[in-house]
Amino acid sequence: MTEVVTKQELDEAFAMFYGMAASIKDEVSPAVEIPDEDRIAAFKQTFLKSIDNNIAVQLDACIHCGACAQACQFYIGTKDPKYTPIRKLDLLKRVYQRELSPMNWMLRWVTNDITIDDLNAQQELVYDSCTMCGRCNLVCPAGINIADMVALNRSAMAAAGMMPDELRFMQEGQAEDGTIFGADEDLFMFRIMDLQEKLGFEIPVNKLPAEVLVTTSGLDIHLFRDALGGTIETLHHMGVDFTLMTDGYETANFGLLSGHEATKKKMTRSIVDAALKCQARIVIVPECGHTFPAIRFGAAEAYGQPVPFETYTVSEYFGRAVMDGRLTLEKDKHKRVVALHDPCKVGRWGGVFDEPRAILEAIGWELHETESSKQYNFCCGGGAGNFLIERADKLKRAGYRVKMNEIEATGAESLVVSCGSCRMNFEVGKVKAGDSLPVDSLAAIIAAHLPKTAKEGAQT
Ligand code: SF4
Ligand code: SF4
Repeated sequence: MTEVVTKQELDEAFAMFYGMAASIKDEVSPAVEIPDEDRIAAFKQTFLKSIDNNIAVQLDACIHCGACAQACQFYIGTKDPKYTPIRKLDLLKRVYQRELSPMNWMLRWVTNDITIDDLNAQQELVYDSCTMCGRCNLVCPAGINIADMVALNRSAMAAAGMMPDELRFMQEGQAEDGTIFGADEDLFMFRIMDLQEKLGFEIPVNKLPAEVLVTTSGLDIHLFRDALGGTIETLHHMGVDFTLMTDGYETANFGLLSGHEATKKKMTRSIVDAALKCQARIVIVPECGHTFPAIRFGAAEAYGQPVPFETYTVSEYFGRAVMDGRLTLEKDKHKRVVALHDPCKVGRWGGVFDEPRAILEAIGWELHETESSKQYNFCCGGGAGNFLIERADKLKRAGYRVKMNEIEATGAESLVVSCGSCRMNFEVGKVKAGDSLPVDSLAAIIAAHLPKTAKEGAQT
């Protein structure tokens, strides 16, 4: 494996990226002035437009057992009852009871209409203290999908112009030019050229046609270049017919994270169009949790019909190649003891559990599972855009602590992750807490264990 980024380069990039993220608050323009009554109306209309029988039933189904509280890292980390998952849906429930419930003629007398103060308080509940990780959904005996309804809540908040400043800044930037943190085509190509020089082979860009479309994100272009380089190096090693595309590389989707539906569809559609243009059968999304559902579950909606390609995340794609013998990795002489973090959107939402474990087994590392893992894994605390929200720092640190305590208890020498947001939140959490456990990209680990022989089988 060619070292595409040294530890020192990573540390420097981390400091620079952290500075860029922290400066958003200074750069964001003031939110557009909207009368309070219009904000309230937009919130209600967005929710009422989306409600169906399924949602209505769920809003009435809670039996107040409290199980969801014990599933949420923000409640566990703070013990503050306001972070109980079901309470994050209180506002939706009030709108439902007053406007649509079969008993609304009576409930209107006992249920207050929502106010601008309610919406202001809602920001913290559905952005800062919920990463839409879905862990609470698993334990709810009434089958309430709290995470999905938080997503609906975010859409209603976005329609009311009440996103947190940092997510609004990112969403507005993507709505304008599709990029994040200035990772435009020039920077993308600069990075590709740099990787090309380090890897010693030509990296296909805008190759038509290609079997596989490889995508990335501004986070990897700026910071986690080892993950991008590792993905490209491994695909080249396998002899896969792949390409990157200059008009469809950015999978970060701040429309999805902020709740802004038009930007969500625009960003997903750009990847769909790039895949159609190069006639890809497979789209590989980078090590980034939310980009996976944005494409795998959102592509058909953005396109308006089924799409002619399958979507895999990096760990899934390479893990399957290891499992069916298309990719052989070299075993390490040192049987490293590691912990693995299953990213919520890739694991709990996407069912990708066996694949990263197959990779670790193939290289001979000893996996010590954390107390919660696979579908019950705790979130890192910074998902769903939360890692950028400055005022949520205390909550993020509380969530980080819950998960990091489990990781440290395994006695692992390092932590393996396959999501840039998780990695970022762990790195920031380590700095703030004075922790020191190394956190490594699975894609980079795979590339570091490629046999130094001829190419593997090229089937995709
Ligand atoms: S989805 Fe996750 S973060 Fe949100 S309330 Fe449920 S457990 Fe908490
Ligand atoms: S677990 Fe389900 S039923 Fe129990 S309090 Fe939470 S939302 Fe209500």
